[in-house]
This record gives sequence, C-alpha cells and structure tokens, in this order.
Amino acid sequence: MDLFAAPPDFAPRSPLVRACTACGACCTAPDIHALQKPLGVPCVHLGDGCLCTVYAARPGVCRSYQPDWVCGEVAPLPTLEARARRFLEIYGLEGAESPAVGG
Ligand code: SF4
Ligand code: SF4
Repeated sequence: MDLFAAPPDFAPRSPLVRACTACGACCTAPDIHALQKPLGVPCVHLGDGCLCTVYAARPGVCRSYQPDWVCGEVAPLPTLEARARRFLEIYGLEGAESPAVGG
C-alpha cells in the first residue's frame, strides 16, 4: 500500500510530498495523549523552523508517525495555522477547535 496515494475521493491539490518537510502540522493539529497535547495547539516541544526540540527523546507515538499523502495536502500551505487547519479538515475535526497558532 502506497501511503502517499490519496484516497480516490480526495483529489490531490499539490505535488506529492514523499518525505517530511517539517511543516509542523502533525505536531500541531492532532491531540496527542502521551504529551497531554490538545487538538489544534502546537506541541510545547515544537521549536523554531517547526523542528522537534526533544527529537531524541520524543514519545513513541511521534516516533511511529509516518509521513503520508496528507503531507502533500498540508505541507505546501504557507502558514502553520493553515497547515494545521487543513490537517484537521482532512480528518473531519475542523469544527472541534480552531488551531491556536499564529505562524
Ligand atoms: S504533516 Fe507531514 S510533512 Fe508535516 S511535519 Fe508532519 S510528517 Fe512532516
Ligand atoms: S514531541 Fe516533537 S515530534 Fe512529538 S509532537 Fe512534539 S514537537 Fe512533534
């Protein structure tokens, strides 16, 4: 299974992104229980350039996260807020909470 193939009902809007570009969306949009991170709020460990400041010690949930077709939908967007909003939209969580990010 190609993790980068968008579902048939999801016309890709952008060229494929086949590697993490450190866009920060997956560290911002989802809730992450292991980090007590709420939905739509940047992880407290998300640093400059959307890099993880605790990369070597990041929790298992972050270690096991793999880039997939969603990266192509979110990574090209210009701001972290837009990327997080799109990520939540894709997962049907857009009404749950507005991303509390400014970048
Ligand atoms: S959403 Fe994809 S490209 Fe963006 S930080 Fe996460 S894995 Fe990387
Ligand atoms: S611990 Fe690091 S990899 Fe995990 S969500 Fe936070 S910033 Fe992202």
